[in-house]
Amino acid sequence: MTGVRGISSPESSVVFSRQLAVALTAAFFAAAPLRAQGIPAPESVLGFHVGQDSMIASWRQIGDYFTRLAQASPRVRVDTLGPTTQGRPFLLVTITDPANLARRAAILAGQHQLADPRTLGPADEAALVARQPAVILIDCSIHSTEIAASQMSMELAWRLATDSALGAALRDVVVLLVPSANPDGVDIVGDWYRTQRGTAYDGTPPPWLYHPYVGHDNNRDWFMLTQVETRLLTRALYREWFPEVVYDIHQMGSAGTRMFVPPFADPVNPNLDPAIIAGMNLVGVTMASALLDAGKTGVAHQERFDLWWHGGARSVPTRHNMVGILTEAASARLASPFCPSAAAIRQPARGVNYPAPWTPGCWRLRDIVDYELIAAEALVRLARDQRGAFVQRFVAANRRAVEAGRHGDPYAFVLPADSGDAGARAHLANLLIAAGVEVHRAASAFTANGRRYPAGSIVVRMDQPFRAHAKDLLERQDYPDRRLYPGGPIVPPYDVTGWTLPLQMGVPADRILQPLDGADLVRVDTVTTPTGAITGRGDIVLLDNRANSMITGAWRALAAGATLQIAPRAFRADERDWPAGTLVLGGGRAALESAARDLGFNGSAVRRTDLPAGGPTVRGVPRVALYRSWNASMDEGWTRWVLEQLGVPFTTVADSVLRAGALRQRFDVVILPSESDSAIATGRREGTLPARYTGGLGTAGIAALRTFLGEGGSIIALGQASRFAIARLGAPARVSAVAAEGGEGGDLGGAQAGSRENVSRFSAPGSIFEATVDQTHPAASGMAPSAAVYISAGTMLEAGPTSRVVMSYPADRSPLLSGFLEGAQLIQGKAALVDAPVGAGRVLLFGFRPQHRGQTHGTFRLLTNAILYGAAAAPAPTRGAGSNATGR
Ligand SMILES: [Zn+2]
Repeated sequence: MTGVRGISSPESSVVFSRQLAVALTAAFFAAAPLRAQGIPAPESVLGFHVGQDSMIASWRQIGDYFTRLAQASPRVRVDTLGPTTQGRPFLLVTITDPANLARRAAILAGQHQLADPRTLGPADEAALVARQPAVILIDCSIHSTEIAASQMSMELAWRLATDSALGAALRDVVVLLVPSANPDGVDIVGDWYRTQRGTAYDGTPPPWLYHPYVGHDNNRDWFMLTQVETRLLTRALYREWFPEVVYDIHQMGSAGTRMFVPPFADPVNPNLDPAIIAGMNLVGVTMASALLDAGKTGVAHQERFDLWWHGGARSVPTRHNMVGILTEAASARLASPFCPSAAAIRQPARGVNYPAPWTPGCWRLRDIVDYELIAAEALVRLARDQRGAFVQRFVAANRRAVEAGRHGDPYAFVLPADSGDAGARAHLANLLIAAGVEVHRAASAFTANGRRYPAGSIVVRMDQPFRAHAKDLLERQDYPDRRLYPGGPIVPPYDVTGWTLPLQMGVPADRILQPLDGADLVRVDTVTTPTGAITGRGDIVLLDNRANSMITGAWRALAAGATLQIAPRAFRADERDWPAGTLVLGGGRAALESAARDLGFNGSAVRRTDLPAGGPTVRGVPRVALYRSWNASMDEGWTRWVLEQLGVPFTTVADSVLRAGALRQRFDVVILPSESDSAIATGRREGTLPARYTGGLGTAGIAALRTFLGEGGSIIALGQASRFAIARLGAPARVSAVAAEGGEGGDLGGAQAGSRENVSRFSAPGSIFEATVDQTHPAASGMAPSAAVYISAGTMLEAGPTSRVVMSYPADRSPLLSGFLEGAQLIQGKAALVDAPVGAGRVLLFGFRPQHRGQTHGTFRLLTNAILYGAAAAPAPTRGAGSNATGR
């Protein structure tokens, strides 16, 4: 968050305006006749009409437009919340009556009081409900190929600024407009579109991620807050504005209904307030009514977008008692028309959820803009008509949440100070705080549930307004067993079925079933990790690898010239027992000391140990290649992000690099992110993209990886890539079962389909499983005997005769910890992580994703352990003349 300006900074909009004014080209001014009341229409600044075929405004143009609109209209204010990942300004546009802009500080203060009514008396509440405007936030184009809303935002703002009826409505409504929740992506997609326009590849999506790290998963980040854009908007939502309605505008595939509007689909998450669900239904039906009144067709309710999922831009607000709205318009081909045959369109029959089927024809960017404008304006008018009801509903739901928490089930969650990774515990607490949840620290030890908790334990009380958000993240999910038809498969979730953060992050959290009357609790605004140290004397530093910050410390020591050995068995040093898997570092003491101090971990320095030499040893920083296909793999982006966060350097390699071979001269370890066998092996089909992006690894790339293994290199195959490694690289293991498809659908950019091996299928669409760990294997360094692993398009493995199982699912019980599982018998006793030797090298086969969406802090170290083990496992045959000092 460094360098990010708060939205209340009065300078921010001025600074942004000046930068953009300088950047404006004379051409735009020359083509800029001013219209209605001297307020510029979008076309006068852009030089084309919003939604015009083949035209996508760049982020610079969008910023220019809003700056000029704010200069001309007393209803419009532009703030820059901060820089995006690539440094573009992230914009929040406030549109309301000038009198509301003048009393903005008082409105913000009122929103704070509505969000926490515990100190609000009945008379003050009535006064607030009488005077607060309804606050609605409209969020455009978080998914950048769903480009229409970013363009539509300019026309919506212009209409709000110039239309007299809408202007009158703005006396009772504050519209917070986010022209794009991913500004970088507007240009990533727009630049690609303009390059391909008029070619054979016109309208194709780009072959890389449209968010620099996480692509489509930027809308899976709303509780984990890994990305800067998520954090900026989260602050505006849950620390500043507390809007009563959050409307998130998306697009879906081209061939179905024209626009989904709520009501959402079942199942309903148990933590949602019923009145908020009714509010969502009300808004959706109002939008549909406006669309049908305007003669629009193809409007659908209750499509597959459910009320179970947590983590999206519309689903996190619902756990803050805000009305979370999603619409999904059918897509064109970016800005090019989509003109299908009637037979290509699949839509439901006429019914109560689909009263007006669409007559197939051409579908254009402008059609999407029109639908979205109608829906957004219907929301503004509804908020005007029902201002008091919206405000009252929000404050009443916040009161109900506090009251529910006072009745227990549970009263609180406690994160004990004496168990787990202190850094991960602080991280989890800070995620809750950032999303507006109250967090307390125990000033002294206390007893609850018959257990003694030490001072410093974190307490999350449930008697607070945003209880639903905290509870849903801290408890285990139990996805309802509903069937598509009797005896048939489950009704799949829209996204995932489980997300329990204490499990994913390896942070124990206890449900407290009695009031915490005796505890001395202090509310905290941030949780910090105590300073750490390397204590003792000697040249050998021992780290138990139980804290993720130790990973960063180990890599810094390797960069400073240390040698790292992973203890192959338990041992003694300076009168103390150390477990197998301990990181034994020779040299690099100064680097370790400064890392321990900065990052908050502890290590011990000793003169000697009884550990024999010859265990897996790493000298210098491992040379890691991270494979990036042209499939815009989100898992690649997450892997890159996690490695960067941990301070583990790597080189990104494309198909062409792997096909060129000679990999062993450059790398010790190659990481294959989770993609299907065909996505890696054959990639994009010829003719679907320019030739350099098609064909995948091909036979040359596969042969080069086999040679790399033969020469002692190591490959880490994550998730579905384990199937590729078994099928194509000869890793000695077998796929015994894979997850059935379903869930994690996404809208436009959903997860790729699994490959079609002839294997058994279980159902676990995004669930958390228990796995048993062989702590004596180096790849398990720092892990407890039992671990929680995230299963997403999961793969069950069986080790071959020469392989070794590192992690497996319990043989005697269901492994399910959170979410849903059908087919436990296909999983019990199966392997989760296999060390599979090939030639002089090896493949580490992960049947799960240890870095899933940047959430699984509890298993990040399995990835970095695999890198260390892979780099140490076999010596390089010969090094070329140019080999560098980090080699072995
Ligand atoms: Zn979307």
